[in-house]
Amino acid sequence: MTNAYRWIGKSLRTLHQAHWYRSVQPIERYDGPTVTIDGSLLVNLASNDYLGLATDPRLIAQVKAAVETYGTGATGSRLLSGHRPLHRALEQAIAQLKGTEDAIVFSSGYLANLGATTALVNSRDLILSDEYNHSSLKNGAILSGAQIINYAHSNLADLETKLSEVRSRYRRCLILTDGVFGMDGDICSLPEILDLGDQFEAMVMIDEAHSAGVLGKTGAGCAEHFGCQHRPMVQMGTLSKAFASLGGYVAGSAELIDFLRNRASSWIYTTGLSPADTAAALGAISLLIKEPNRLSQLRQNAQYLTEQIDRLLSSQADLLQADLLNLKRLHSDTAIVCLQVKDAATVVSMGQYLKQRGIFAAAIRPPTVPVSRLRLSLMATHAPDHIDRFIYVLADWLKSV
Ligand SMILES: *Cc1c(COP(=O)(O)O)cnc(C)c1O
Repeated sequence: MTNAYRWIGKSLRTLHQAHWYRSVQPIERYDGPTVTIDGSLLVNLASNDYLGLATDPRLIAQVKAAVETYGTGATGSRLLSGHRPLHRALEQAIAQLKGTEDAIVFSSGYLANLGATTALVNSRDLILSDEYNHSSLKNGAILSGAQIINYAHSNLADLETKLSEVRSRYRRCLILTDGVFGMDGDICSLPEILDLGDQFEAMVMIDEAHSAGVLGKTGAGCAEHFGCQHRPMVQMGTLSKAFASLGGYVAGSAELIDFLRNRASSWIYTTGLSPADTAAALGAISLLIKEPNRLSQLRQNAQYLTEQIDRLLSSQADLLQADLLNLKRLHSDTAIVCLQVKDAATVVSMGQYLKQRGIFAAAIRPPTVPVSRLRLSLMATHAPDHIDRFIYVLADWLKSV
């Protein structure tokens, strides 16, 4: 008798040994800036609910009304029987926020990236991709069949060299970049990337998952932050982070969106976004516009957290120099703040310590990132007390190791 599945157990044991093994933890109650896990209330520094809208009673009421009218599911693909007026309203609201001619809504951000990349390029074409891009961009690139060349993270000189070396051998070219790199919190150099795109006749696709609803004067994202939202590009984003729902989108020219409706398989051959998710995202965008103070509150919170971390680390400079923790705060301009730690075992024990002391934060390890880190994400609805509590516990952890 053979056993074709024995390798799975072996692979799992390897994951455990490398401290790479991951599992889910149930959040029993979600209240935004706090969550309940194992019966205890924790400060939530691990959510992508940047604007704090996932618990907003007005959104919840809109979702209930949408379900009453349209039912629990879209019941079909958009081109057949799954299209509702709500979908179009959401697409128009996204296009208006982004300042583009049109937008198309996918059932997740991951599917939006798969759909757009595979529709835009194929085996005759070239993709240049930032090495730190999100998994969905990387897998979309692979699925497209295009030649993929990674460039060093946010390294424009490397991107330019690679374009000048190989661009002419391919028909179309697509440059892929995260707007805000989700595991680091830094922003891509969008204007310079667009310039290179112009110079080398390359399309540019930016993933605004962590920047839409976070960056820019009105929260339109990275493109607005840099004042280049009217330059031609493919702006992808998700509805599952700042917009407190589920789903993804691509915004751009009317032609681009029309083309995607005809060629993006992950849109054509999947069920439309559920009425509940559609209504939640639509409501979130209108609240972002109506209550712009959420954006400034989010930025203030991120600034307060980084200041407090830097103050604590500089007061512990002696300890940090002598120790082997290799603890340092990574540069961030966004709602994501990371503390780099020397290895996976340390960050896992750090995460456990924080959890026991009432702080919920993400311990991120390889293979997700090259170097382990504690990843903190801010919300507009955090109060200074929540951040102070984290700093207090972090100081205790430093003393304990
Ligand atoms: C979360 C995320 C996605 C995927 O979005 P979902 O809507 O959760 O599928 C894509 N790109 C980036 C950069 C992300 O952070």
